[in-house]
Amino acid sequence: MNNPYLLLTPGPLSTSATVREVMMKDWCTWDDDYNQGVVQPIRRQLVRLATARPGYTSVLMQGSGTAGVESVLGSAIPAEGKLLVLSNGAYGRRMGDIARCLGLSLATVDVADTEPLSAELLTRALAADPAISHVAFVHCETTTGILNPLAELCQAAKAAGKTLIVDAMSSFGGVPMDVGDLAIDFLISSANKCIQGVPGFCFIIAREASMRQCEGRARSVSLDLFDQWQCMEQQGGKWRFTSPTHVVRAFAQALTELELEGGVAARHHRYQSNQRALVDGMARLGCEPLVARDWQSPIITVFAAPTSPDYDFKRFYIGLKEQGYVIYPGKVSAVDCFRIGTIGEVYQADVAGLLAAIENVIYW
Ligand SMILES: *Cc1c(COP(=O)(O)O)cnc(C)c1O
Repeated sequence: MNNPYLLLTPGPLSTSATVREVMMKDWCTWDDDYNQGVVQPIRRQLVRLATARPGYTSVLMQGSGTAGVESVLGSAIPAEGKLLVLSNGAYGRRMGDIARCLGLSLATVDVADTEPLSAELLTRALAADPAISHVAFVHCETTTGILNPLAELCQAAKAAGKTLIVDAMSSFGGVPMDVGDLAIDFLISSANKCIQGVPGFCFIIAREASMRQCEGRARSVSLDLFDQWQCMEQQGGKWRFTSPTHVVRAFAQALTELELEGGVAARHHRYQSNQRALVDGMARLGCEPLVARDWQSPIITVFAAPTSPDYDFKRFYIGLKEQGYVIYPGKVSAVDCFRIGTIGEVYQADVAGLLAAIENVIYW
């Protein structure tokens, strides 16, 4: 059961055959084999991955990563609260869209896609508007692969006494962080990114005290974070509504494989090696990354498209796909570019294979 091509994308990404294999069995959503045997261990493992500090909990939620963001924004902010969203890419701006759709009181600070967010910017925005109660931003902005300065941003939000929401969708499990040390109130990630599971649900790691405050605040029934958490807490891992059982079982296997690899530090090291090999190889082909080295994450890299009139993304994409590699189109507004992910079941040999494939279809 091999894949016809490798996904060099930010998720869904290439998973191991062993992760895919465990989906060959059916599970009953209310049976102990599933809830106590699969869901509860996952919830505990996620908390252990997130922090060594006490007082944290986790909850799994149906839907793609965006559902997790919507669940947190819709459940954490009280009617009298106000949310500040800092953005420097499509995923940050999507948080603003969600807040507007939910009718939340909202302030936004939007930075250019190719620039990182900064603590100074956050501190200034908070000083300008004392009504702000909650702060949200993206850690690894997958639009560009920029790794925003997490520690500085968290510190600035906490120094001002704000509740902190971090979209760590494409970094959690692949970039070391301690959610407790950072004092993050709600961290959101999903099954199909650095944990290397298959798509179908997302998860939230939260400070228990902050989670308790969500009671009665939700603006949606199916995305009610507090209700989902209470059900899982009180009924031994039970989801309120049909859960993606096969996907959850695959995620349990993916967590085991993360541990076998040596944990987040080892995975981070592999992603970094992949990304360095990619950038070095692309430089040899005359193609430079768009993001400055200081801000570049090991997750995904944007390359400016060749300026040659012969270049056409679709043709380039198909040429690579025929050789077994799928890359990603660019998402930076106003710049013609493409993206290559270096996460998932991807190793140095795969990056070398990709570079050889690029050389075969190069027309610039
Ligand atoms: C993947 C991703 C999301 C969620 O996207 P979905 O398509 O809903 O899974 C949100 N934020 C970031 C930073 C992401 O990389």
